[in-house]
Parts: sequence; C-alpha cells; structure tokens
Amino acid sequence: MDRIVMHAPAKINLSLDVTGRRDNGYHDVRMVMQQIGLSDEIIIEKTENSSFKQDIEKPCIIVETNSMTLPVNEDNLVFKAAHLIMKECSIGTGIHIFIDKKIPIAAGMAGGSTDAAAVLKGMNRIFDCGLTDERLRELGVKIGADVPYCIMGGTVLAEGIGEVLTPLPNMPGCIILIAKPGISVSTGYVYTEYDSLKDKKHPDVDGMTAAIKEGDIQKISKLLGNSLEGVTQEKYPVIKIIKGIMLGNGAMGALMSGSGPTVFGLYDDNTKADEAARMIMAEELAQDVFITEPYNKEE
Ligand code: ATP
Repeated sequence: MDRIVMHAPAKINLSLDVTGRRDNGYHDVRMVMQQIGLSDEIIIEKTENSSFKQDIEKPCIIVETNSMTLPVNEDNLVFKAAHLIMKECSIGTGIHIFIDKKIPIAAGMAGGSTDAAAVLKGMNRIFDCGLTDERLRELGVKIGADVPYCIMGGTVLAEGIGEVLTPLPNMPGCIILIAKPGISVSTGYVYTEYDSLKDKKHPDVDGMTAAIKEGDIQKISKLLGNSLEGVTQEKYPVIKIIKGIMLGNGAMGALMSGSGPTVFGLYDDNTKADEAARMIMAEELAQDVFITEPYNKEE
C-alpha cells in the first residue's frame, strides 16, 4: 500500500477539571473527551521507492495543506508524528502528507493532535510497522498530551496530563452545535490565569462518567462543566453570549471546549440547533459554525 486517507475527528470536552500543576508546568487534569463528526482529512503517500535511504535526522517529509495559516515545516504536528514513526520503525522512504483542514485552528478541539494521531496510525498501516495502539499512544504523548486520546478515539475519561485513558461507552446520540468565535486564545495564558485563581471551579467528572454509563443525555447535558471556562469567558465575553443564545434556543446544555474559545451546545432537535446557529451567525459572534453529532467508535 502506497497511499492512505485518514479521518481525523475533532473533540469536545464534556467535562474538564484541572486538579493540579506539576513542577514541569504540565497540569493534572480529569477530562471526559468526545469525538465529533467534524474531521480533517489526512492523505499520506510514500514518495520514494524502497531502495532510497534517507538521513533520518533530515527526513524527506513534505507537508501541504489547504490552510493559509498552518506551518508546513517541522512545527506542524504531522511532521513531528511522521518523523517519530520513521525513527521508531527505521523507515527509509520519504513521505508526502496533505492536510485537508476543516477543524478550526487553536479552537480547543485538538485539531493538531488529531492530525498527528492520524499520521501515526496511517503510517503504521502503510509501512506495516506492526506497532500496537499502546506503543502508538506512547509515541503520541511525546507530541502532545491530547494525542494518545486522539489515537484511542470515541468517548474516554482522560487523566494524568491527559495520557491515562479509560474508554467509556458511547455517548448517546444528539445534535451538537459548534461555534468558534474569531479570536485566538492562548492555552498558556488560560492555565496561568487559572493557577492564580483562589476560587477554582471543579466540575463533577465522576457524575459525568456515570451519566455516560447510564446513557442519560439529559444528565450529561446538566453536568457539562469546564474549570477553564470562567478564565477564558472573563477575557472574551463573547463566549458567554454564545452560550446564552444556545441555551435560550433550546440547548439541553452548553459549554466551552478545552481552553476555548469554541462553544458547543447539545440539542435533541435539529430545528432548535438551526435557529441558534442562525442567530449566532446573524450577530456575527462566530467565525465558524457547524452542526454535527458525536463520532462514536463501533461498540
Ligand atoms: P487543544 O484542544 O489540544 O488545546 P487546539 O484545538 O486548541 O488544541 P490546534 O488547532 O491543535 O489547537 O492548534 C494549536 C497550535 O498548533 C496552532 O498554533 C497551530 O499553528 C499549531 N499546529 C501545528 N500543527 C497543526 C495541525 N496539523 N493542525 C492544527 N494546528 C497545528
């Protein structure tokens, strides 16, 4: 096989609690992660025949994308992922990676991490490396804390810095409205502000995992919570306004994802989600608006 097309789904956090800060600056978290039906597409192709031997420190990795803003050099997480697999499996051939970017960038939806995960999984397949998912996750955490989750996919409780994973049953079906305001949020800034808060908010992560196990979408919606939301919302009030529109238009629950600024609402009805989307767009509160659903693994 010389070519593979991989789907790289975005994620939202149904629950995100920050429980501590490590000396190396990483934070301990407890998060319930859910993939959604909004995906990048990653096309991976071999570029040289197997007689070509490359310098593994200067590998032949060509990255292209339809995005005007993404780096295509070693700063792109797909480049890092490809290089890691090449070193791990002594791959001598070059690789071409095209990223068809649909997930908003720096949005709190793990866009870069899911692309990296897709490259680790895709290269493992086309080069017949035979790496286990566990080994892929060990490699993935070297790229970023969300990469192991993106390799596992589906509905997952993520602990540690995000790499200690417990799979959960699929989230029940619902309509998910996504709205990403046209602002860039620095994850570093959000965590630093959070660290200095005296009164830290802690969502009920255990309640959320129980609600998922019960398959109770109403309970899931009520228990949505994110420790970081207050910090980002304070700096960017548009987040609160979008949430208000979602909840005012029949969302069962609404929340900011990750460190923001994306906000999502859970609906049991397409018409209500459509109406909220229309209002958000009419008031020019968001740059990107999508209506999607949970992306679940087969059970
Ligand atoms: P998270 O939810 O994991 O915090 P995010 O959705 O907020 O991630 P990303 O879209 O992953 O953020 O982008 C964060 C940074 O990573 C951006 O500055 C971007 O330039 C860089 N980056 C590198 N490679 C990629 C990629 N393939 N896709 C998106 N961003 C990338």
